[in-house]
Amino acid sequence: MAFTLAPLPYGYDALEPHIDTQTMQIHHDKHHQAYVDNLNKAIAGTDNEKKSLEELVKHAGSISPAVRNNGGGHWNHHFFWESLAGNAGGKPSGKLAEAIDATFGSFDAFKEKFNNAGITRFGSGWAWLIVKDGKLEVSSTPNQDNPLMDVAEVKGTPILGADVWEHAYYLKYQNKRADYLSAFWNVVNWAKVAERFEAA
Ligand code: MN
Repeated sequence: MAFTLAPLPYGYDALEPHIDTQTMQIHHDKHHQAYVDNLNKAIAGTDNEKKSLEELVKHAGSISPAVRNNGGGHWNHHFFWESLAGNAGGKPSGKLAEAIDATFGSFDAFKEKFNNAGITRFGSGWAWLIVKDGKLEVSSTPNQDNPLMDVAEVKGTPILGADVWEHAYYLKYQNKRADYLSAFWNVVNWAKVAERFEAA
């Protein structure tokens, strides 16, 4: 069965001024759509057509580069849109906030570690907050890899991710990835991240 692109869970302009409308339109309608289309092309007529996206992603080490890259791209972007919201940001609360403080020392120390993971990821990739063996950890992956993949350097269950490909920020922030990551915190949907944390 072919994979499909879900609409954004909010308007293209919902994340203004932190992430601009045109970036959201191109990012969702062109980039994410291309991952879905190329994933469908790569699995057409193969056994992978019968597998779920999670199953494909988890076995990234034994699937073709086209399925790994585009399957990862589809999974990562769907996860990313749901990690964000308009009128969001601020700080997490409850058990997630306690776990962040206990693990990283403070919310600010966590943000610095996450930003640094994104800034130091050479080329294109993602920064992540994951749950690994019941504990929070910050990591990053290259290209469209993610921490669910068997090939990931640091494996775990992602609960928050930031796309640091240039296509995610270049129109508004040009080469200033650090400025984009600072703005990212204004649109994080902490309710969703907390829900994932409780489930992990
Ligand atoms: Mn992207």
